[in-house]
Amino acid sequence: MRIVFLGAPGSGKGTQSQRLIERHGIPQISTGDLLRAHVKDGTELGRRAKAVMDSGQLVDDATILGMVRERLAAPDAARGFILDGFPRTIPQAEGLAKMLADIGRPLDRVIEFRVDPKLLVQRISGRRSCQDCGRVFNVHTAPVPVPPPCGGQCTTPRLVQRPDDNEATVAKRLSVYEEQTAPLVGFYAATGLLRKVEAEGDLAAVTARVEAALAP
Ligand code: AMP
Repeated sequence: MRIVFLGAPGSGKGTQSQRLIERHGIPQISTGDLLRAHVKDGTELGRRAKAVMDSGQLVDDATILGMVRERLAAPDAARGFILDGFPRTIPQAEGLAKMLADIGRPLDRVIEFRVDPKLLVQRISGRRSCQDCGRVFNVHTAPVPVPPPCGGQCTTPRLVQRPDDNEATVAKRLSVYEEQTAPLVGFYAATGLLRKVEAEGDLAAVTARVEAALAP
């Protein structure tokens, strides 16, 4: 299946992707993760993107579309994918539609994650990820399980907070979402692909609602 997860920062797209990828045998493609890998590796793209990301703004559409085109050409994406955090603007959505039309594999479904905006700041400020395996936890809602994940590799997960998860940058990211990304709800509603999911509450219950929204 070719799926887009659409929703504000902190709405749970990444967490739910992690829960669904094994079951569906498709990769999660997060443009935020791809960008953070560039930053970590010190590539030219990463150097350009870092300041933009730290300020809570969006990286330019051409850079993002080039990065996604390359990632979608990898063999593991042939059976489908969950796009997490992409597209984030109307030009990105149009670019994606064209890219997929060119290979004759259009999107199957767009899931909108709906969360009360008041909850988002709390969720994001509690977010921590394991420096070694990348798994995401939340000090409020999803503490590190015992035994730890990663088949024991991360016996003591080294939890870090993303530099853009601080309160000031989060406020900026949420306003950028409202201005530039929320219009995609109307864009995808018009295509008939959009399903809305209430994304608050128990993780497993949200997963069940997402699965129901993905059913044919
Ligand atoms: P995320 O991990 O999805 O919250 O993304 C972190 C940051 O990376 C965002 O605040 C943006 O600066 C940048 N970013 C990620 N995905 C995109 C995208 N599709 N378009 C533009 N910027 C993006």
